[in-house]
Amino acid sequence: MLPFDSVLDFRIELTEDHELFRKTVRQFVERYLEPRVKEIEQTNEIPRELYARAAEAGFMGLGIPEEYGGQGSDYLNVVIFTEEVSRVCPAFVTSVLVRGLFTTPVLFFGTEEQKRKYIPPLARGEKFAAHATTEPGAGSDVAGIKTRAVRKDGGWVITGQKYFITGADKADYFVVLARTSDPPSRHERHKGLTMFIVEKGTPGLRVGERIQVTGLRGSMPSEVVLDNVWVPDDAVVGEVGDGFRAAMVTYDYGRVGIAAQAVGVIQGVFERSLNYAAQRIAFERPILAFQAIQFYLADMLRDLAAARTLTYWAATMLNRGLTTEAVIAASLAKLFATEAAERAALKGIEVHGGVGVMVDGMVERFLRDTQIMKIYEGTSEIQRLVIIRHLVKKVFGFEV
Ligand SMILES: Cc1cc2nc3c(=O)[nH]c(=O)nc-3n(C[C@H](O)[C@H](O)[C@H](O)COP(=O)(O)OP(=O)(O)OC[C@H]3O[C@@H](n4cnc5c(N)ncnc54)[C@H](O)[C@@H]3O)c2cc1C
Repeated sequence: MLPFDSVLDFRIELTEDHELFRKTVRQFVERYLEPRVKEIEQTNEIPRELYARAAEAGFMGLGIPEEYGGQGSDYLNVVIFTEEVSRVCPAFVTSVLVRGLFTTPVLFFGTEEQKRKYIPPLARGEKFAAHATTEPGAGSDVAGIKTRAVRKDGGWVITGQKYFITGADKADYFVVLARTSDPPSRHERHKGLTMFIVEKGTPGLRVGERIQVTGLRGSMPSEVVLDNVWVPDDAVVGEVGDGFRAAMVTYDYGRVGIAAQAVGVIQGVFERSLNYAAQRIAFERPILAFQAIQFYLADMLRDLAAARTLTYWAATMLNRGLTTEAVIAASLAKLFATEAAERAALKGIEVHGGVGVMVDGMVERFLRDTQIMKIYEGTSEIQRLVIIRHLVKKVFGFEV
């Protein structure tokens, strides 16, 4: 079982309610999202009314406890929603779930006042939020950020540049990670970072141009500049100096969402490839009759089942609490599912032949989307590091 303790660690706790919820999401996707996907790809914009529809259905409050206006913090529901939406439009789910990168640190580390002020309007879909950690000079190496916050007039002045910030162009609230003291030693670089809430309109906060990335069209990230931004003391999320932990916990939860996004992509590519192979005729037969195509489809289905199982398992673990095992499971799921989604997208293109690389064919976009899934919330290399570090700590009690 190592590094797990018992076979019970491998439980997946799905119920009839989860299946009912999945059907509700499928209806939403077919009715409102599917007809707009081409437009989203072409314009690189998600129509505002889709957010309103999602809010109406309660989807903006997924993963948020009911006492703060959400639908409850069941990560299996988050995963099911993500998967169903990504099957058709992974970018839409990115722009919805990015609020989780704000609500998670506030819910886990914030004060009651912060939770009451910021979470309910996000859960209702009235406000948008973003998470600003990455900088031009530091992504994987979160402790390497250069943004500084210094004490002034009973609060803090934050100065720095953030990069690749999803949803920044729409955000009303940001969490921003900044260095508030020098690290005590080279081995403790993660110490001395603090997370702050910064509201849109605060003097000195500027959202720059959107950064054009290869995929997830409709959800382009932006640069965010903080030029002497003053925030009061009560903008600090958690303890001063403990921001690294707040960021890491946020990603531990977020990763299972990215895994689910990748599962949705595999499902979408698999269905499209199967249907195309059944109707495309070559050499007087449907290409589905060729063994090479059958093998591609079988491999996709293998990856789909494995990725989905890992993802539901990780979400079940997270529902029971943020244990070492849950962190390992979430990273395993993200690592496997995103790499499997890339494989599926490549094979999907092959099954579709020329149509596979036609931009209007709506197949190649999945490959572009998977490149981002492999990077954000920790690259595949970082997932491997997380897995091994947590495993070694648990099994041997020391850090590598
Ligand atoms: C579309 C998009 C949206 C994003 N949204 C957000 C957001 O909303 N908020 C936010 O804060 N950030 C966001 N990010 C940033 C994202 O989290 C980072 O891009 C990611 O963590 C990788 O950091 P980096 O780009 O600086 O790459 P680097 O850290 O420079 O990595 C470059 C390469 O080196 C490898 N590498 C780095 N360190 C190690 C190591 N120790 N061992 C082995 N290999 C290593 C990496 O795996 C990678 O292959 C977004 C990024 C993208 C592309």
